Amino acid sequence: MLAELIDGKAIAAVIRAEVARDVAELMTRGVVPGLTVVLVGDDAASATYVSGKEKASRAAGMASATIRLPATTSQDELLAVVEQLNADRAVHGILVQMPLPSQIDPDTVIRHIVPHKDVDGFHPVNVGKLLIGHTDGFVSCTPAGVIELLVRSGVQMRGAEAVIIGRSNIVGKPMAALLMQGRSDATVTVCHSRTRDLAAHTRRADILIVAAGRAEMITGDMIKPGAVVIDVGMNRVPDATRALGTRLCGDVHFASAVNVASKITPVPGGVGPMTIAMLLKNTVRAAERSLH
Ligand code: NAD
Repeated sequence: MLAELIDGKAIAAVIRAEVARDVAELMTRGVVPGLTVVLVGDDAASATYVSGKEKASRAAGMASATIRLPATTSQDELLAVVEQLNADRAVHGILVQMPLPSQIDPDTVIRHIVPHKDVDGFHPVNVGKLLIGHTDGFVSCTPAGVIELLVRSGVQMRGAEAVIIGRSNIVGKPMAALLMQGRSDATVTVCHSRTRDLAAHTRRADILIVAAGRAEMITGDMIKPGAVVIDVGMNRVPDATRALGTRLCGDVHFASAVNVASKITPVPGGVGPMTIAMLLKNTVRAAERSLH
C-alpha cells in the first residue's frame, strides 16, 4: 500500500485564500491587518524565511513591513523597537525572527511583545492559554498548522494514539497540548532524546508527529501499518547527485515510510507551507480583535 500524500502546499493555499477573504472583509470595516517582522543580523536562512513571510502577507492584502537591524544590535535597542511596535495601532502582529545574536536573550524579547500582538504564540501568556484550553490566545504556527493538516485531511483524532517525537517549546510541547484537547481528543505520548525504546512508542502510533531535527531517523519499520505520519523536520543533508550538493529532507525516511503509512506529509511541501499560512491567520485574528 502506498500512502496518500498530505499536500501541505495545497492546503496552505486554501488557508491563504481564506485569509485574503478575511483581510478584504476587515478592510471594509476600516482595518488593514498589519504584520511587522523584525530581523536582526544577516543569517541567510532567517532572511529567506522573513522574505517568505513578507511576500505571503502582501499577497493576502495585509500591510507588511520588515525591520532589518544589524547583528551588533544590543538587547536594549531591540526592546525599544518592540516597544514602538507594541504602541503602534497599525501593527496587529509582531514577529521577531529567531535565532537572535548571542548578546540578546530571546526569552526577554518574547516577553516584551504584548501578548495580543504575539502572532508567533511564544509569549508565556499565550502558551498558558493554550495549556488551559482558552481559545483567545495565539497558538504557535507550526503545531497549529499540523492540526489544520490533520483536520482538513479528514484524519480521525478522537481517541487515537498520537505520538510526538520532540519536546521543544515551539513544536513538541504545543503540539501535545493541541492534540490532547477538545478539538482533537487524542491520547498523547511525547518522546524525546532520553526516551527508552523509541520504536516501541512509534509503532503504537495511529498518528505519528516527528519534530526531532534528525534527518530520516524514523524508518518504515518503526511505523504502525496504516498510521498517519506528519514530518515536521527540515534537514539539509549532503547529496552529490544534486546541483547544490545538498538536498532537503525530513525526520522521516520517506521512501520506506510511504509503503507503511496510510497518509504522509512530504518534505518539502508538507508542514513547511502551513507555518506561514497560520502566521497570516493569527495576524488576521489579531486585527479582528483590535476592533473589540
Ligand atoms: P529542537 O532542536 O528545539 O528540539 C528537538 C527535539 O527532538 C528535542 O526535544 C529532543 O529531545 C528531541 N530529539 C532529538 N533527538 C532525538 C532522538 N534521537 N530521539 C527522540 N527525540 C529526539 O527542534 P525544533 O525547533 O522543535 O524543530 C524540530 C525539527 O522541526 C527541525 O528539523 C526543525 O528544522 C523543524 N521545524 C520545521 C518547521 C516548519 O515550519 N516546517 C518549524 C519548526 C521546526
